[in-house]
Amino acid sequence: MTDATCKRCGDALTDHQATDKHRSDKHRSDEHRSVAKRVLATSALAGLSLLLCYASLIRTSDPITFAQRQTVNRAIDLIGQKGFAREAFVLHSAANYRLTDNWWNRWVGHADAYAATNFPFEVVTLYPDFFSVPIDDVERAIILLHEARHLLGKGEPAAFADVWRSKKQLGWTIDTHGHTHVWKSVREFTTHYAPKLFQCGLEGQADCME
Ligand SMILES: [Zn+2]
Ligand SMILES: [Zn+2]
Repeated sequence: MTDATCKRCGDALTDHQATDKHRSDKHRSDEHRSVAKRVLATSALAGLSLLLCYASLIRTSDPITFAQRQTVNRAIDLIGQKGFAREAFVLHSAANYRLTDNWWNRWVGHADAYAATNFPFEVVTLYPDFFSVPIDDVERAIILLHEARHLLGKGEPAAFADVWRSKKQLGWTIDTHGHTHVWKSVREFTTHYAPKLFQCGLEGQADCME
């Protein structure tokens, strides 16, 4: 017999075996609860930082106007009609469209003149060129389809390659749009990020998607 007491609750403990038994009977659920509490606190903290970061991206940028949102909606509708349901859904429901760069874009810069996406915050910045340079809604749909790949977590190589493979399905072809600024710049970026798509034909220099 010893005069030990439980450090946690002060109950008298008789011997070593009793200590273990006491712990497993009386404190096992406490331990589970405290682990659960720690996990919960950690994820709450992570959630809170994401929320604060999202809020700061929104606070440091301006929203698009109502008229611009209608232009965006027309392009999204086109994406949905052409069979890209998942992309249309994230572009319509998850994305928050901004007109000016937030602190993140100002910090890291952006390669593309038309748009930029901050994943996983689903903030899409649409630059003035997005509204003025494309010749029609099909071209704006092409740009938004690229941003949709980012909204779904894809990087630049996959985003450019996926759009290049999807261009016919969207109605964006060399015959209808081969002369436009958007075509030239998207082709140039795609050649850089996905060179394999341009190694077809007899000379190995033709567009594999034509
Ligand atoms: Zn105890
Ligand atoms: Zn991109």
